[in-house]
Amino acid sequence: MPGFEFFGDLERKHLNDVLESGVLMRYGFDGMRNGHWKARELEQALCRRMEVSHAQLVSSGTAALTVALASAGVGAGDEVIMPVFTFVASFEAVLSVGAIPVLMDIDETLTLNPKAVEKAVTPKTRVIMPVHMCGSSARLSELKAICDKHNLLLLEDACQAIGATYNGKPLGSYGDLGCFSFDYVKTITCGEGGAIITNNADYARNADHYSDHGHDHIGKDRGAESHPFMGYNYRISELHAAVGLAQIGRLDEFLSIQQQHSGVLRKALESIPGIRFREVPEGAEENYSFLSFFLPDEATTRAAHKALTEEGVDGCFYWFDNNWHYIKKWEHLKKLKTLGKVSEEVRAAMPDYEKADFSASDAVMGRTISVLIKLGWSREEVEQRAENMVKALKKVL
Ligand SMILES: *Cc1c(COP(=O)(O)O)cnc(C)c1O
Repeated sequence: MPGFEFFGDLERKHLNDVLESGVLMRYGFDGMRNGHWKARELEQALCRRMEVSHAQLVSSGTAALTVALASAGVGAGDEVIMPVFTFVASFEAVLSVGAIPVLMDIDETLTLNPKAVEKAVTPKTRVIMPVHMCGSSARLSELKAICDKHNLLLLEDACQAIGATYNGKPLGSYGDLGCFSFDYVKTITCGEGGAIITNNADYARNADHYSDHGHDHIGKDRGAESHPFMGYNYRISELHAAVGLAQIGRLDEFLSIQQQHSGVLRKALESIPGIRFREVPEGAEENYSFLSFFLPDEATTRAAHKALTEEGVDGCFYWFDNNWHYIKKWEHLKKLKTLGKVSEEVRAAMPDYEKADFSASDAVMGRTISVLIKLGWSREEVEQRAENMVKALKKVL
């Protein structure tokens, strides 16, 4: 998954362009910048690669989700349906615009279960936010059908799945809005950064203004810009965008390496009875940033995770016990622990996550192990790893 493994001359070149002009900001200073507009160029590159008409860079993936929600007018009292297996950023973004995160079960795709989503729709629901976890798509056509039926927005969190596709379309481009993260451990990185993509010109304009204090970006004098509405500062810097501009040009190279490495591991594991792989929806193709598989039950999975670690297989995740990615350990959300007071409206509308029943998701997560696919492995290292994994798993199966 991590683009940070492959830093090279191109990243340095784009960074030096920015350092030599001294203009570290993406807007303004036209005369000083020697024609360098790294953020703008990265947005254009994203539009081409993701086959959409608009892209807005921001300071993080979390900011991208926040700005995406805001740009579509999601706010107080609105309900956003999201999965219980994701990163904490998903509910942070929803709460930050005053909306209510409605967490729902996943299935063996490791993403939202459309049947659970259908049951969760209320008159207050505005958005369905699937999260394409660990490099593979949610069941987008089923979720889209629910959105169409109830007039809801489809917002794809594609932060972990850049380059993966559904029915031939890049993830993020299928819904009304899609979000990417370019943080340090994602498939391509800016150090810190994120992006919103959309084909909707209104959302794109709103995202452009909202992420820069509501400035309307009309004319050449920043100080003279007016404010059609209030915004915040979620800008990316030119330095971060410069790194991303180099990395996006290498995305397809990264994806093909991941596919190769993941393929070697998968082939080795296929020979073990009792191992099944994460379900990929029909018509979807992964970005191969993780290889995820199921064991028969929770006890065997725990034993397998331990055996893999003992066999020196690093980058193995047992998400069921993970503090960041699964609801089981989100005490701060369940108890609504915040620094300042939460609005009465949000407090009253928040589902009681201490009592909620997510046994269907527990039954999947308890049996899931994901292994991170690194770019820098040599062929020998991947093969050695496959051998070690088979050895460890055969011990417990
Ligand atoms: C990384 C990630 C984010 C947030 O991205 P940041 O750039 O770290 O803020 C959001 N959602 C998912 C699924 C992620 O993996």
